[in-house]
Amino acid sequence: MQRVDVVILGAGLSGLSTALYRGGDYLVIEREGRPGGLTRTEDIEGFLFNHTGHWLHLRDDRIKALVADLLPGQMVTVERRAAIYTSGRFTRFPFQGNLHGLPSDVLRECLQGAVSAAVGRAAGGSPKLKNFLDYTNHHFGEGIARHFMVPYNTKLWGVSPAEVTAEWTQRFVPMPDITQIVDGALGLSREAMGYNASFLYPAVGGIETLARALYGRLDPQRFIFNTRPRRISTKEKWIEFGDERIAYQHLVSSLALPDLVALDVDAPPQARRAVRRLRCSVLRYVNVGLDVETPLDGMHWIYLPEAKYPFYRIGSASNAVRSLAPAGKSSLYVEIANDQEAPEGQVVRALADFLKEIGTIQHDKQVRFAAFRTHPYGYVIFDKHCARARESLLSHYAAQDVLSIGRYGAWTYNSMEDAILDGLRAAESLR
Ligand SMILES: Cc1cc2nc3c(=O)[nH]c(=O)nc-3n(C[C@H](O)[C@H](O)[C@H](O)COP(=O)(O)OP(=O)(O)OC[C@H]3O[C@@H](n4cnc5c(N)ncnc54)[C@H](O)[C@@H]3O)c2cc1C
Repeated sequence: MQRVDVVILGAGLSGLSTALYRGGDYLVIEREGRPGGLTRTEDIEGFLFNHTGHWLHLRDDRIKALVADLLPGQMVTVERRAAIYTSGRFTRFPFQGNLHGLPSDVLRECLQGAVSAAVGRAAGGSPKLKNFLDYTNHHFGEGIARHFMVPYNTKLWGVSPAEVTAEWTQRFVPMPDITQIVDGALGLSREAMGYNASFLYPAVGGIETLARALYGRLDPQRFIFNTRPRRISTKEKWIEFGDERIAYQHLVSSLALPDLVALDVDAPPQARRAVRRLRCSVLRYVNVGLDVETPLDGMHWIYLPEAKYPFYRIGSASNAVRSLAPAGKSSLYVEIANDQEAPEGQVVRALADFLKEIGTIQHDKQVRFAAFRTHPYGYVIFDKHCARARESLLSHYAAQDVLSIGRYGAWTYNSMEDAILDGLRAAESLR
């Protein structure tokens, strides 16, 4: 039996980064034909698509240095242009910080709610915020919850915000104070709020350029593509694929946790029970090519909280980076609501109608193609069981010398930078 010090499952960013920072005697096993995972870029008729939006936000100095070293002078910085479309009009993102422009009755309800929530907070006490609905009402008030937070997030996850905890919110939900909310309602907000006010992106080649550059630093002989493990024994420390069995010292897996447990012949009953507690949304979206140059009023992405649209977000990557669509054309990624079972034909019809409504197209033929894509793992649903089930699985595996990392390996809501950091930390802990 062949022996390897470290077997790495998956050649997405977390697997690639583990290999980069660990070096030495490792082997990467990847089911697809090339590296990149979620950051692979798809080419349809010269339009380049990511798995929906994939914009790079860097906070960690080590990862900033890595990206600068991997792609010197090849990244562009883009200032976000994002909006909400509701009640037949656009307002700026984030909704809670830019109420200006809403119909007066909606604006009044949102503002009154925000003020009474602020008064309630000032009156003291720290109520237990059991779920995302409580959190939203507490911080933004009932109007903002009713007109944006609740309907938008219900479409995104396919479950009510009352079922979801607020553990993921800190970084991803901008939190203006009441002064900023009032300024935003008066159209006086000046700053771009939130973690993604600007972002980086490769000037050419789509976001896969980053994964390719990472892979370019590694030894291709240590990668096996188009291969999935058949079985893993985490007790005896071997992995089987095809006719081969390889013994390992350490296993680093970026497979989705439920898939790791399913492959593990030694997974104990409590692990099999815990994994049944893990829930996530399905990622269903459409890659669209358009015969117009600048869709969506030039926005990079827009949010659609209203239930009458079968999609919750539409982005145009080519509005942000021109090289992603042929000259004179543009692309959209359309993320389909999880709380409705909209058939493909209905989504395309609704999309064409919506694009006419906002003046992006004049006739259906300007939609060149609509290619549907589905991934079983989308957004982790942080319900009341999630944290405990995840922790019990991760600590069980850590005790078996298995590090389960990355977006679905660690069963979390993370970014590309987090995935690279996961690999870095895994490599450090193996040392
Ligand atoms: C809809 C969406 C939008 C996002 N937008 C952004 C964004 O704008 N900015 C940002 O920074 N991040 C974004 N992210 C997050 C980012 O994509 C991830 O954090 C990162 O790519 C995860 O990398 P990973 O290595 O953990 O996982 P993955 O990329 O999923 O890698 C796992 C790898 O394992 C392989 N694999 C799976 N099962 C098997 C098996 N049985 N055998 C062998 N190989 C297997 C897969 O093929 C894949 O290559 C987004 C994610 C999603 C889902």
